[in-house]
Amino acid sequence: MSLFPTLMTGPGPEAIRPCPILFRAARGLTLVPGQGIVHDFGLLILGQRILAAGPHAEVLARIPMCAPVGLGQVEPRDLGEVTLAPGLINAHAHLEMSHLKGRTASGQGFLAWIKSLVAQPLYQAEPAAMDAAIAQMQASGTVLVADIATRNAGLAAERLAASGLWFLSFHEAIGQGKPPAALPPQPGGRGRAAWAGHALYSTSGQVLARAKAVSNAAGLPFSLHLAEHDDEVSILDHGGGPFAEMLAARGIMKHFDAPGKSPVAHADSLGLLDGKTLCVHCVKVGDEDINILARCKAPVCLCPRSNEHIGVGRAPWEKLMEAGITLCLGTDSLASNQDLDLWAEVRFVKERFQGPLGLTRAVALVTREAARALGVGTDFGTLEPGKIAAFSVMPEDLFNLFERADHAVAS
Ligand SMILES: [Zn+2]
Repeated sequence: MSLFPTLMTGPGPEAIRPCPILFRAARGLTLVPGQGIVHDFGLLILGQRILAAGPHAEVLARIPMCAPVGLGQVEPRDLGEVTLAPGLINAHAHLEMSHLKGRTASGQGFLAWIKSLVAQPLYQAEPAAMDAAIAQMQASGTVLVADIATRNAGLAAERLAASGLWFLSFHEAIGQGKPPAALPPQPGGRGRAAWAGHALYSTSGQVLARAKAVSNAAGLPFSLHLAEHDDEVSILDHGGGPFAEMLAARGIMKHFDAPGKSPVAHADSLGLLDGKTLCVHCVKVGDEDINILARCKAPVCLCPRSNEHIGVGRAPWEKLMEAGITLCLGTDSLASNQDLDLWAEVRFVKERFQGPLGLTRAVALVTREAARALGVGTDFGTLEPGKIAAFSVMPEDLFNLFERADHAVAS
């Protein structure tokens, strides 16, 4: 079932423009399991849906079976020497912080970064900066974003709705206030509103559990920053320390009782982990934590360049992947990243991954796996009939980086 009700009601663009379009490209990555690179790729779309995808000659032959008009009325569009991939999904962003680009500490750890962050006009979101950030996402092939907002969810959703992007507008619960009783107000455009929890050290277990329960009852994903940095690990293990003091000074979790557990174990004990909780970061996870995540089937969103910018280390990508955990990528915000380009995130991982990381497995992190993680796999994540007609073009130099690596393995 689609997470986006607007997809199922009202006339789609095909009612206005009944002419299918047949795209042709040198290569296509459908991300359909088991399918590799399709050479001389064809993608037939009608309105906002894909009718057929595969080798161009096969798609051409299928037109009489799947298109409502004759071959003569299909509009051909040759995209040339490019590699098409499904539209990209950014599984973690904070558009409300777009005005803070280049204004935070880098490489000095979480405490230094958060201090530099709260010294800024953190919640004075700037619509123009948000629009520029959205435009950058769209220009690099992003079609859906999971956006987190603490104070400016309405504004972010308004800017996203105006952009035409698909989006999940996560309202972030933080602190020890009143737990949410219902879903946030639903946005316009191509969006759904849902709940996120900030983190285990900043938000009470009661608030997190309630936000999670409301999300589950509505069939919506829930998002939680989890195991991002050493200060989080120590505050949950034994409490105290400069980070706890900083939180208390800001009136956050003044009476926090350290559970004496790892972040992942504590999230599990609060009943927060299941297939619909997107665990964001998971940098500080040991083998037992990875076992818990795998057992709970909790998807993990990695934000590799944000982790590097802040200086918290890097998640054990290889072990998380080996454990069969659904993995996806997020850019995080411009307060901890230089841009919101998911291809740059893929490149960062590819260049540092220990061991082989194939092209489709890597692209799945920003397409098929991300769609699964957010519960939008019915509509997004692969190029196949019935899915939303949204695709991206993989940068050639990135494609070549994978090709060279594969060639080096083969030879
Ligand atoms: Zn975040």
